[in-house]
Amino acid sequence: MRERGVHELVRLGANESPFGPSPAALAAMRQELERLGWYGDPESLDLRDALAAKHACDPSNVAVGSGIDDLMGLAVRAFVPPGGVIVTTRGTYPTLAYHALGYGARLRAVDYTPDGWPDLDELARAAQTQRPALLYLANPDNPSGRLIPRDAMETFYGALPGDTLLLLDEAYADFVASDALLAPRLEERLIRLRTFSKAYGMAGARIGYALTAAANVRTFQKIRLHYGINRNAQVGALASLSDDAFRDEVVVETARARAQYYDLARDLGCGYIESSTNFVCVDMQTEGHATAVVDGLLNRGVWIRKPGAPPLDRYVRVSVGTEPMRGRFAAALRDVLAEARA
Ligand SMILES: *Cc1c(COP(=O)(O)O)cnc(C)c1O
Repeated sequence: MRERGVHELVRLGANESPFGPSPAALAAMRQELERLGWYGDPESLDLRDALAAKHACDPSNVAVGSGIDDLMGLAVRAFVPPGGVIVTTRGTYPTLAYHALGYGARLRAVDYTPDGWPDLDELARAAQTQRPALLYLANPDNPSGRLIPRDAMETFYGALPGDTLLLLDEAYADFVASDALLAPRLEERLIRLRTFSKAYGMAGARIGYALTAAANVRTFQKIRLHYGINRNAQVGALASLSDDAFRDEVVVETARARAQYYDLARDLGCGYIESSTNFVCVDMQTEGHATAVVDGLLNRGVWIRKPGAPPLDRYVRVSVGTEPMRGRFAAALRDVLAEARA
């Protein structure tokens, strides 16, 4: 905003929830704010109990972190030796690569398939030949928004070497039916990452969790910051788990918004990728055009992003917003495309 001299920004670039936290979470956090003089519970016991109930596991299978981004760093520190190999997808959600470089791992990136899916065959092959300590995969994927079906995930997981840890980023799990995802299993070679940042609308609070074997949770407990979780975030996350109705509304409204974006894309003669998340990729044909569209929208006060690596870099990625935000985006996009065509 400072760079562009824009005073108001329609935020559709970071897949934040425009619906915010549940009213129950807000009420609980407001009430607890007075006790911010205290540290939070370093073991997050109440929250882990509630998460264990939600996922039909034991609290010893749940590790809480300051968002998935934090937990990814812990996973790299805990499970990848110095110089160890990490396999990922070129152009996927970038934080894992950031931690890999920061903590001295060697990153091996596999391209998306030509039609823009995470390439499970190539990822499995890379795992078999490179024997990585850790393999990262996001499902549903960011930035494509695609959901890899359960049977494909089961086959993929079965094809990984026994000594490769699958770090499965399920930031968007709340937007899909749970039986669409890899079946629940609590094994040392699988860590699933979940967050309150997306469907629960608490990105700014910074809180997420890992589901895995108790031995992995104990390892996380040894190296994580003792008081690293914001106290108010614990309170809000716990309260939001008791408000399924709100989350369900968010999921329904998000699906409605995605459908509106599809309609808009069709109306403008653009392709798009069917998404299982709170964002949609719209095809701008070339990387150059996609970059120009992001720039043109920003000049009109609408902030979106675009994927950084081929073949998805010809798309722009727009987050679901409220109805008025969607309207602002649609008007600005029509304007930018009309200008480009003129
Ligand atoms: C948004 C997002 C995250 C970040 O989650 P936090 O809990 O806010 O750190 C992680 N992974 C993916 C794929 C995301 O889209």
